[in-house]
Amino acid sequence: MARIIAIANQKGGVGKTTTCVNLAAALAMNRRRILLVDLDPQGNATVGCGVDKDSDRPTGYEVLMDQVNIREAIVTVEECGFDLLPGNGDLTAAEVALMDAQGREQHLRRQLARIRQDYDYILIDCPPSLNILTINALVAAHGVLIPIQCEYYALEGLTALLNTISRVQQSANRELQIQGLLRTMFDPRNNLANQVGAQLLRHFPKQVYSTQIPRNVRLAEAPSHGQPAIQYDRYSRGSLAYMALASELIRKDMQVTAASA
Ligand code: ADP
Ligand code: MG
Repeated sequence: MARIIAIANQKGGVGKTTTCVNLAAALAMNRRRILLVDLDPQGNATVGCGVDKDSDRPTGYEVLMDQVNIREAIVTVEECGFDLLPGNGDLTAAEVALMDAQGREQHLRRQLARIRQDYDYILIDCPPSLNILTINALVAAHGVLIPIQCEYYALEGLTALLNTISRVQQSANRELQIQGLLRTMFDPRNNLANQVGAQLLRHFPKQVYSTQIPRNVRLAEAPSHGQPAIQYDRYSRGSLAYMALASELIRKDMQVTAASA
């Protein structure tokens, strides 16, 4: 049964999509069966996997609206080694429609339940907002992975996200855990980045991944080639960092499983 991980942070540009696409590719290289769910109307993860976001195929919109079974909307991206539920601007309409829908927070969870047994991990790329789409992801997920760019305002936004997570834990999803905090675009020569990184470790000693994602131009270039960086330039520093993250994530999940057995 898949472990479902929402990749969330309401700040834009912190590396959610980059993390989602490259972690998916890295986990796939570790022979894990992966589904990437693009829940952001910008459709950046979809494009980053080389999939046309404006084709006639059903997307996350039809899935959230229960117009199709999720199986009909999933595409296999051979080159990336994983499956994708594409997303595009139609998701904005889903956001509006869900506002007064019944059980509006549960739509994604119910659809994912149909295919959970087909995957080891389902990664959800969230929009840069704490809207109903993100809430659907948090209600469906077992863990939240939070990418954090270590700069001055990083921790401020984190409080709002943690409050939202605890509200979801108290209402619709008691199982929800913090999967991990990931330092992205990290530059160790930058004093502020080091200070914020150290502050994060003090506050969340168990949750911060020891893997840091460096600022690396290959990670920024890869989406314009419709490929995860891991395919585009496998031995770049960015790709190697995401491979290390995948190993760390798998190792931690195995420890948790062993501890609860
Ligand atoms: P989000 O999904 O949180 O909005 P993205 O993953 O789209 O963030 O990243 C924002 C921008 O920064 C994109 O142009 C992306 O290519 C670039 N980027 C992300 N991570 C890195 C990195 N580690 N090094 C260099 N550029 C990065
Ligand atoms: Mg994004």
